[in-house]
Amino acid sequence: MNKYDLAILGSGPAGLSAAIYARRGELNTIIIEKSFASGGQIINTYEVDNYPGLPEITGFELATKMKEHSDKFGAEYLNADVTEVKNIGDEKIIITSEGEIRARAVIIASGASHRSLGIPGEEDLTGSGVSYCATCDGAFFRGKDVVVAGGGNVAVEDAIFLARGCNKVYVVHRRDELRAEKVLQTKLFELPNVEMVWNANLTNINGDGNVESVDVKFKDGSSKNIKVDGVFIAVGIAPNKVKVDELNTTEDGYIIADESGITNIPGIFVAGDVRDKSLRQVVTAVSDGANAATSALRYLI
Ligand code: NAP
Repeated sequence: MNKYDLAILGSGPAGLSAAIYARRGELNTIIIEKSFASGGQIINTYEVDNYPGLPEITGFELATKMKEHSDKFGAEYLNADVTEVKNIGDEKIIITSEGEIRARAVIIASGASHRSLGIPGEEDLTGSGVSYCATCDGAFFRGKDVVVAGGGNVAVEDAIFLARGCNKVYVVHRRDELRAEKVLQTKLFELPNVEMVWNANLTNINGDGNVESVDVKFKDGSSKNIKVDGVFIAVGIAPNKVKVDELNTTEDGYIIADESGITNIPGIFVAGDVRDKSLRQVVTAVSDGANAATSALRYLI
């Protein structure tokens, strides 16, 4: 059975940054990633415009550059799904779909995934007009009308991206103010084919085989039906949990640690969006990765 100094779970910005720092510290390191591509959520982001030094880079390009950078330092890479980490003192056993891996330390950088709304029609019509990824599926809706649900950075970025090709983009938000950064809001409000639907929630997604319309309910109790071909849901994220007995997490499953990434279990560290923190950005993810790898190095030495 393979044994490493460090196993990094996840190869988004946090995991790749951790791998660069760990390899520069000459730790025998393996990255375990369940997706076919590295980069985490930024792979599905059309443009990342707030990562210093790389303005207007696409998410895919940034992910590719980070992966190439981490490859240069030679961390091993395994495509596998991690189901559990067992802590047996100085050794951690990582149970994966491809077998067991042993390591002296683990960094959990498993990231987060989109949340769903849980409304009628959402599950049935996913892939038939309902999507959680505008950059992946937006091209199918060229010249058509779509709705975006949510008011955060992802919803607004998605709406801006979709407005380039769609006839009309409705943004349905449950309040009268967006959560997204002001710079994104300004871009959005300038677009002639975007219509804001404030103080409203989607209650139903309708369609026989494909999306045909959505029902929207307003705070004042009134409701309306909007004819659309596509529904893009961007109502936040939830942590990608990894089972580890006795690991301290919040109620939602975010792993508790300060910026050092040191958890309550010696030898288990955390980095990126899966950590309980207030700002989830690429820049804070890579910072987390550097900190967690440095903490792991100190622990191992
Ligand atoms: P988010 O910032 O948590 O925003 C979620 C949005 O969905 C909020 O507007 C929220 O409304 C709304 N919402 C939540 N649950 C809802 C429900 N059940 N029904 C209707 N609306 C609901 O999530 P996000 O936009 O997916 O972003 C995720 C993380 O990635 C954030 O930390 C974000 O900062 C980060 N990110 C950053 C960038 C960037 O820096 N450019 C880009 C993408 C993502 P309320 O506002 O009323 O709560």
